[in-house]
Amino acid sequence: MQRTVPLSVAIIVMLLAGCSAEPPPQQSRIYSMGTWVDVSIRGAPAATAESALDRVRTLLASYERDYYAWAPGQLADLNASIANGEPARVSTELAALIREAQRLSALSDGAFEPGLGALVELWGFQSPLAARSSPPSQAEIDARLAAATIGALDISGTIIVSETQNILLDLGGIAKGAAVDAIVATLLDAGIEHALVNAGGDLRAVGRSGGAGGERPWRVGIRHPRGPGLLGNIELDRNEAAFTSGDYERFFEVDGARLHHILDPATGYPISHTQAVTVIAASGTLADAAATAVFVAGPERWRATARALGVDTVLRVDADGSLEMTSSMRDRLNPAAAADSDIITPPGQDESD
Ligand code: AMP
Ligand code: MG
Repeated sequence: MQRTVPLSVAIIVMLLAGCSAEPPPQQSRIYSMGTWVDVSIRGAPAATAESALDRVRTLLASYERDYYAWAPGQLADLNASIANGEPARVSTELAALIREAQRLSALSDGAFEPGLGALVELWGFQSPLAARSSPPSQAEIDARLAAATIGALDISGTIIVSETQNILLDLGGIAKGAAVDAIVATLLDAGIEHALVNAGGDLRAVGRSGGAGGERPWRVGIRHPRGPGLLGNIELDRNEAAFTSGDYERFFEVDGARLHHILDPATGYPISHTQAVTVIAASGTLADAAATAVFVAGPERWRATARALGVDTVLRVDADGSLEMTSSMRDRLNPAAAADSDIITPPGQDESD
């Protein structure tokens, strides 16, 4: 009797452990679109996670090829057709993204302007290989400022025609969000219930991160734009996205002024009034475009721009380092527990872009 009690207890404990144990998380790190994309999947059988991750790798390769203007692929073909004054046929997905980019550009009153590819190229921000160390001349900037806006594109089904040949489309401010959304759709389609997709600090959650009772939300750190610490952390509701636009991703300095990759479409110059903007939204596409738009909108217009885009959880770091945020962000940002995050991505991790 004295022997059987401990034995049965041991068996019960083993059974309980067997019931509650879930497979170890599956992690995959894929370099794509100029950044590391980390996908963590939990609570799924290894084979399910592995085959979902295979689909994610294929998907990312297609985004890298077809949504980037400066390498052979669909977007480059579209830009070539526009330059030649010809209509172009694109994939259903690319047509839908360009239509959404057009809508968000109009709502942001042109702060988000994917038609400014010629300016991005002039500043050399399209690739590290094109980086320059001095600004272009005013005459060169003026020549490219005259380019048309994304509103000049007429999209019917999957056929795109431009009213003008003078536009170079750059989806750099929204494509990563679209890619993260496509990854999440792939994971959900594969039956994955819990995952975190982290594209160099731009994130989207699926389900919960586990922890006690398996129900803790994913908790993500918001990087300090002048690092190495965090501004705080935030818990993501099911399938929410958190995207940050920052002046630390691609830049060079001239006489102490930081010239970086987010441009004011009205002047053709890098924005100088803002260090970073983080937006939480239901999709990566919206969060990505909105973060860029609110960054450009600046101290006077950022709240109105966020409202117009339908995002209400926004954090803005001014050029002087001061923080401004919407009340919804204030309710959710937890500065005290900054170190206690599932994901911490200080500046510098992003091997940009
Ligand atoms: P993000 O990091 O999402 O803010 O995107 C920045 C990228 O978007 C830049 O590297 C450019 O390719 C592009 N971009 C720069 N300025 C703008 C703008 N005002 N509107 C839309 N895209 C922009
Ligand atoms: Mg963006």
